[in-house]
Amino acid sequence: MPDLSQIPSMDHLLQDPKVQQLVLTYGRPLCVQALRGTLENIRQKIIHQDSPLPSDSEMINSVQSQLETWLSPTLTPVINASGVILHTNLGRAPLSSATRSEIVEIAAGYTNLEFNLETGKRGKRSIHADRLLSQLTGAETGFVVNNNAGAILLVLSALAETKNVLVSRTQLVEIGGGFRIPDVMRQSNANLVEIGTTNRVHLYDFENMLAEKPIALVLIAHHSNFKLIGFHSEPTLAEIVAVSHRYDVPVVHDLGSGAFLDSADYGLAHEPTIQESVGAGCDLVCFSGDKLLGGPQAGIIIGKEGLMKPIRKHPLARALRAGKLTLAGITTTLTHYLKDEVTATIPIWQMIAKPIESIRSTADSWREYLGAGEVIPGHSTVGGGSLPTEEMPTFLLALHPSKPDELMQALRQSQPPIIARIEDNRVLLDPRTVLPEQEAVLLRKLVSILEKPKM
Ligand SMILES: *Cc1c(COP(=O)(O)O)cnc(C)c1O
Repeated sequence: MPDLSQIPSMDHLLQDPKVQQLVLTYGRPLCVQALRGTLENIRQKIIHQDSPLPSDSEMINSVQSQLETWLSPTLTPVINASGVILHTNLGRAPLSSATRSEIVEIAAGYTNLEFNLETGKRGKRSIHADRLLSQLTGAETGFVVNNNAGAILLVLSALAETKNVLVSRTQLVEIGGGFRIPDVMRQSNANLVEIGTTNRVHLYDFENMLAEKPIALVLIAHHSNFKLIGFHSEPTLAEIVAVSHRYDVPVVHDLGSGAFLDSADYGLAHEPTIQESVGAGCDLVCFSGDKLLGGPQAGIIIGKEGLMKPIRKHPLARALRAGKLTLAGITTTLTHYLKDEVTATIPIWQMIAKPIESIRSTADSWREYLGAGEVIPGHSTVGGGSLPTEEMPTFLLALHPSKPDELMQALRQSQPPIIARIEDNRVLLDPRTVLPEQEAVLLRKLVSILEKPKM
């Protein structure tokens, strides 16, 4: 066994010019921590595995790689070639260039977040999105929180704690990521009153229960990520609103994806829009900021001022409030809608609206550049719990590696990681969801990965 006393001391290593360089880069405390760990590791290996004593420079290299590992971010940009536009696991909507700039500008300094520049007194955080939301949707007022799950929890807690909330069994949905309507209901201490059956609910189900029990709210949850087909029916939103209002009961619509634009204009099925919910007379409408709105993660509540007051005052509103970066991002995204420039500015709508011929020519140019694979017709999807079963025609670059799983893994491990999909033993890359500024790096990475012999 090598002599443990031969292990260099911390002080000795700290004198080494290379370690001093590391200290300049990473700071002394972290370097000392990495050195200590490395020295202890060496000691253990000598004692238990009879390992030879590494040289100083080997030790320093291992210290350096330890420091690099500690400081490399776990959250990193990826290239989404999966063809799923709103991929929840990939962070949903990429932001418009104006939205990104505004977030950076607001992040850099102080703001009038809660400061009234007119009076010099304390102002309200909620005003920043409020006017834009009313102007856009026709709702009386709006309120922004951290995400839509939070918005629903807040609405139920503020308006229906210990009270009855009417929900149809056709809508007792799980949205994914553990968000289930009955669980949120329990969490907000609201009492779930179910009507109808799994596949059908009738207007008289609503009417009968409204007549039978005191009801604080009628909650309608958009099906989002699944479809009921076959023997299925639900009354229209306007019918439910009409019967609820006859009993003076407000209707809350959890709209989920929150589309302002009509997806049917882009060759897709119709996804219910925010304007339709407001138009049907819903008292409150909740939706996500980062689904079909195409902005940052947020939960947006719009509707009647009388209902919003207790919501804004509820302690959960403080716990779930949106930060200045979220507000900067949401308001700038909303201005794209006001200026009628959505498909020119918001990345997810650019992707949805991308002409099939332009996708084909991108796929062709990839194939040409790589000199590998073939361009085949296929489909992209919207994702993000919207437009289930809807597919958009696209063109894909299909690669035929001998081991598709290994290629997929190599793609995921590239820097930046590339996310593709496998079908019939082929690895498919969809140009629709690859941002234009990522194309060059995608191709360079693909070339170097495909050059490896085993691929
Ligand atoms: C996505 C979704 C939610 C959750 O929204 P987050 O912004 O992800 O918290 C809630 N309800 C419906 C109907 C949804 O589609």
